[in-house]
Amino acid sequence: MLADHQDDCKIICGGQSLLIVMRQGLVVTDFLIDIKGLNEMSYITYGEKEGLKIGATTTHRTIEKSDLLKQKYPVLVAVEKKVASIQVRNWGSIGGNLAHGDSSGDLAPTLIALDATVKLSSSKESRVLPLEEFYTGLFETAMEKNELLTEIQVPPVPPRTGAAYTKFNLIENDQGIVGVAAAVTLDPAGICKDARIVLSNAGVTPIRAKSAERVLIGNRRGDSLLAEAGVAAAGDADPVSDIHATERHRRYLVGVLTRRMVKLAWERAAGQA
Ligand SMILES: Cc1cc2nc3c(=O)[nH]c(=O)nc-3n(C[C@H](O)[C@H](O)[C@H](O)COP(=O)(O)OP(=O)(O)OC[C@H]3O[C@@H](n4cnc5c(N)ncnc54)[C@H](O)[C@@H]3O)c2cc1C
Repeated sequence: MLADHQDDCKIICGGQSLLIVMRQGLVVTDFLIDIKGLNEMSYITYGEKEGLKIGATTTHRTIEKSDLLKQKYPVLVAVEKKVASIQVRNWGSIGGNLAHGDSSGDLAPTLIALDATVKLSSSKESRVLPLEEFYTGLFETAMEKNELLTEIQVPPVPPRTGAAYTKFNLIENDQGIVGVAAAVTLDPAGICKDARIVLSNAGVTPIRAKSAERVLIGNRRGDSLLAEAGVAAAGDADPVSDIHATERHRRYLVGVLTRRMVKLAWERAAGQA
């Protein structure tokens, strides 16, 4: 159906984001292709070699309640608890959340910090893309018109790795004014071997705070290192001023949340949290 209608259709899954933009008249379409009932695209599997695979129509609530994820990727469960309300989580899907391309989305930063990839499939072929490369602009993705996001893949978490995510918002479980995800991998001596820091709602797409990552790699944890990483992340951000916060306030928040999330991720990597 997508191959036949790619120029005059939209995919709908839970409708939790699409219906809002349709009601606002921002999206007008002749056809909706409803994939909510494609149960074969709703699954969570894990293998020691291939890692985690989540089908695109899997709901937020299924992820939040998954015992497998609680054990293997607890940060994803924690993130889901911060997404919207239970009602929205019961109906909205991980595929819809990522494909919507909203830079304030909570899942993308954490998944990018975990080095996730997405599988995009047309009726003819499939390709796998790093989630980091999926976002190309404001509500824009690298998905072609004839493609469906079918699966989210997360590699096994390396030993001595911890991850954390938080967002700053005025109303609990509302979309974040900014958010920060951090993943830290330590060597056996407790020195940072790898770090990935990803910002939400601090630019038109999720942003890797690469200068902040460089500050951490090769170093031991300390208050001045965390502070330096926060300052670097604030510089990596590219926020705008809007009714929720000024650009300056967003940068300040990025600095604070980066410090806190790197500390928490580091403690988790060291088995202290
Ligand atoms: C009140 C409210 C509060 C919210 N708060 C948060 C929050 O705090 N954090 C957060 O991250 N999100 C939040 N959201 C957004 C919501 O979580 C997700 O965007 C939603 O889950 C999208 O999933 P869906 O299945 O409903 O997608 P839909 O609305 O059906 O689709 C969204 C977009 O993705 C496309 N699409 C859907 N599935 C696919 C697919 N498999 N392949 C290709 N394209 C696809 C659609 O064409 C559409 O463009 C909130 C939403 C509401 C209504």
